[in-house]
Amino acid sequence: MTASNFIYLDNNATTQVDPAVVEEMMPYLTELYGNPSSGYRFGTQVNKAIETARERVALLLGCEPSEVIFTSCGTESTNSAIQSALLMDRDRQHIVTTRVEHSATLKHCETLAKRGYEITWLGVDSEGQLDLAELEKSIRSDTALVTVMCANNETGVLFPVDEIAEIIRKKGALFHTDAVQAIGKIPVDLAEAKVNFLSLSGHKLHCPKGVGVLYVNKRTRFHPMLIGGSQEGGKRAGTQNVASIVGLGKACEIAGENLDHEAVEVRALRDEFEQGILAAVEGAQLNGDPIHRLPNTSNLAFSGIDSEAVLLLLDQHGICCSSGSACTTGSVHASHVLKAMGFSDERARSSLRFSLSRFNTREQVRQALEIVPNVIQKLRRVSHGG
Ligand SMILES: *Cc1c(COP(=O)(O)O)cnc(C)c1O
Repeated sequence: MTASNFIYLDNNATTQVDPAVVEEMMPYLTELYGNPSSGYRFGTQVNKAIETARERVALLLGCEPSEVIFTSCGTESTNSAIQSALLMDRDRQHIVTTRVEHSATLKHCETLAKRGYEITWLGVDSEGQLDLAELEKSIRSDTALVTVMCANNETGVLFPVDEIAEIIRKKGALFHTDAVQAIGKIPVDLAEAKVNFLSLSGHKLHCPKGVGVLYVNKRTRFHPMLIGGSQEGGKRAGTQNVASIVGLGKACEIAGENLDHEAVEVRALRDEFEQGILAAVEGAQLNGDPIHRLPNTSNLAFSGIDSEAVLLLLDQHGICCSSGSACTTGSVHASHVLKAMGFSDERARSSLRFSLSRFNTREQVRQALEIVPNVIQKLRRVSHGG
């Protein structure tokens, strides 16, 4: 299967690598193979490329280059932030998080709970939003870290990170935000938000898989998870994934140039798709906050159908989308995000996530609008035995 004969509407699972990113990476996969830690010019020129990438990431985030640590993925970034916060202060071992986090945070916190750590799980309302008064009350004198995502990968719901940061700062705890889905889609300015840690991942913003960033505020003490060499200012040992880091720098530069495009063009495509589906499919409903939402994501419930069956049929018609998050596909569990919003198992199991990117075209949206309603109606007829 190649990109020319299918319609990829699963950009929250992963994204197409931008050809300009590949081009930027190529020299570091071929002739420029020096070790960035070596002292001769064949190594130092590679180190220079890493520093250029760091500056590009910092520019997009509104932070200093020294606050950017390159990691292997978004999951490593979130894990490192949580581990560091727990190691920094023995008297602060309590963690606050939400019930709608990505498994990178959720499973980690569940594991910590099994090891005896106390975790407070914040719920959300039917639009997927937090109660900020509850969040404030949950922070205690022994709270090490509050970890709350920026944008939800399943519904696209945006949490008010600036407001949350202010609440946490006043209470004296550390704040980590998983911004993997937000970076490149909406503006995030660390010069404004009082965040201690932020995670992002390359493959969600048109860079290859296997590279990420952990932002650590320069006034926040940090305890590395990977210990060894002095790479990344001693904050993340191990020889860097140079080509991917160079690619991530380029991807961040392009993302910065395309933020307006995401806000206007991608949003317009998403809205055309969403309104088309809601008009064509009886009883279809939006899951999540209609206003405070990523411009690319549409999570829709279609009563009376099994989303796994729809996925298979849509696949046969060349459309890729997702039921819940990609990490839960194949398992029988209904989406924990939709369940946390108070929806029934039935509604969660009849929901699909469509997520667009700047590589989708109006023509693809029109084609999808021909296919998706038909597939759903066909399945509804089958399940009603008609
Ligand atoms: C994809 C994703 C992650 C994990 O990133 P990886 O680089 O795949 O490890 C974490 N959080 C959110 C919200 C994500 O969408």
